[in-house]
Amino acid sequence: MAYQSSFPPIPIPETDLWSLIFRRDPKNVPFPETKEIFTSAKTGVSYSLATVRQSAHEFGCGLKARWSWRKGEVLTLYTPNSIDTAATTMGTLWAGGIISPANPLYTVEELTRQLVDSGSKGLVTQLAHLPIAREAASRANLPESRIILLGEGRDNTGRVAHWSQMRSAKYTYVFSRTAIEPKKDLAFLVYSSGTTGLPKGVCLTHHNMVSNVLQFAFMEGRTFHPSGGHDGKGDRQLGVLPLFHIYGLMCGILGSLYLGLEIVLLERFEMEEALRTIEKYRCTFAYVPPPIILAFGKHPAVDGYDLSSLKMLHSGAAPLTRELTEAVWKRLGVPVKQGFGLSESGSVTHVQSWDEWGKFMGSVGKLVPNMEARIVDEEGEVVKDGEAGELWLKGPNIFVGYYKQPEKTGEALTSDGWFKTGDVFRRDKYGNYFCVDRLKELIKYKGFPVPPAELEGLLIGHEEVVDVCVIGVEDKDQATEVPRAYIVLKSGVEPSDGKAREMADWLANQVAPHKKLRGGVRFVDQVPKSPSGKILRRLMREQAKKEDRVS
Ligand code: AMP
Repeated sequence: MAYQSSFPPIPIPETDLWSLIFRRDPKNVPFPETKEIFTSAKTGVSYSLATVRQSAHEFGCGLKARWSWRKGEVLTLYTPNSIDTAATTMGTLWAGGIISPANPLYTVEELTRQLVDSGSKGLVTQLAHLPIAREAASRANLPESRIILLGEGRDNTGRVAHWSQMRSAKYTYVFSRTAIEPKKDLAFLVYSSGTTGLPKGVCLTHHNMVSNVLQFAFMEGRTFHPSGGHDGKGDRQLGVLPLFHIYGLMCGILGSLYLGLEIVLLERFEMEEALRTIEKYRCTFAYVPPPIILAFGKHPAVDGYDLSSLKMLHSGAAPLTRELTEAVWKRLGVPVKQGFGLSESGSVTHVQSWDEWGKFMGSVGKLVPNMEARIVDEEGEVVKDGEAGELWLKGPNIFVGYYKQPEKTGEALTSDGWFKTGDVFRRDKYGNYFCVDRLKELIKYKGFPVPPAELEGLLIGHEEVVDVCVIGVEDKDQATEVPRAYIVLKSGVEPSDGKAREMADWLANQVAPHKKLRGGVRFVDQVPKSPSGKILRRLMREQAKKEDRVS
């Protein structure tokens, strides 16, 4: 038995993202094309739908003219948020390319791995990140001439072009848009570790993403007012989500363009800057992860700003506790609603409606239209109504597989199209879903994914380590999980606090900051394993909970 979405199905045209966003019948565009959509909090520069379309078109032509860009080639974005991210993304899609976003704090090794795995043919970055981008490109055999800069900085060697040089109005009559087969051609290749192992390319077709934009718009479009709102100018998002993550990509780029919702973009999250931006631009809402909800509830700086324009916060990407929702409501009178989604579902699968806020505390909301869900036990049998089990999902937004990894794809997708999320859910009789646990090994630090297998792979390479297991432990003060390593030391090596710090520092030098062992290093005699050698993480997590209760 499967649960259907409680919303009526919505029509999903067989089209590509460019057509969905830029070639709508003007009758169906509920806002003027000249309305500001992307505003840079730093420079105050704004772009409308028409400006983004023009820049994207010119960039797509530049890719074809200067790089002889071919359909299916991958462009990697390794950049902090920029108001040019949207045009770079859409321009690549215009030229038939695939966008693969990467965290701009990745190390050379992490970026190289993604460039090589995706077979990337171009890399977009900003000046501050150029040294790492250059080194990774060189290791991935990508010529320097295939790197482009966004932002204000220019490369003083003159070898790396700025994206304005890649755009070319003079070619817009020479080249035409690449024809797309929406159900076959990929639009995005985002990296996620799935239920187990190292990061893998999640293949999202145009059809997957068109579906999710329409599902997102159906759920969220009812909440906002593109042309109404507080000051008559419409609702305005505070843009603090990273645009390289699927949550930011949907809410910050595609959803904003489709719904015409203005977004004031910050390069990255910093609380005081976020507060200043809300006050200055009279932002009315924001999509954020739980640690930012915590900051709204507890950060002392909040009291120094006029946040009266805020009418809603939406939390996603990681578990949200009732206490945080209540703290924000008590302090600011601002409701917090929740949503759920994964890279493999193109983003959103569940959303709480605006009018349901406060009624079903802790729920991530209802299933979006055109989706079905199953909640199953360990044998894949559907559990009784109201009981908890693994969430399986089906719908037009579910990815088509992991890039060049048929085995992993087979483990995640059943032959009849069910995606096994690795998350444990319960559903109430009204169709509200509650995420109660995680079966998969993934750790989320402030919403950023940390694949334990990656950290274990590095730690096992340390000369004093015999065995290791990395799990996520709760850090209530920061409203997040943090990675902790349980290490078996080589005989003769003495465990000590100093040794634990030394190992945490050793790892920190090799990974992006969100992967640091903030939960510490603990030494153990052995790592519990199943007869087949699989780490029993659940046991370790229970042990960690006990230890943390005692300490
Ligand atoms: P990602 O692919 O990085 O978007 O990570 C997806 C995973 O984040 C899900 O499988 C969940 O484990 C977790 N997640 C996302 N949203 C929520 C939420 N609202 N509550 C709890 N966990 C969440």
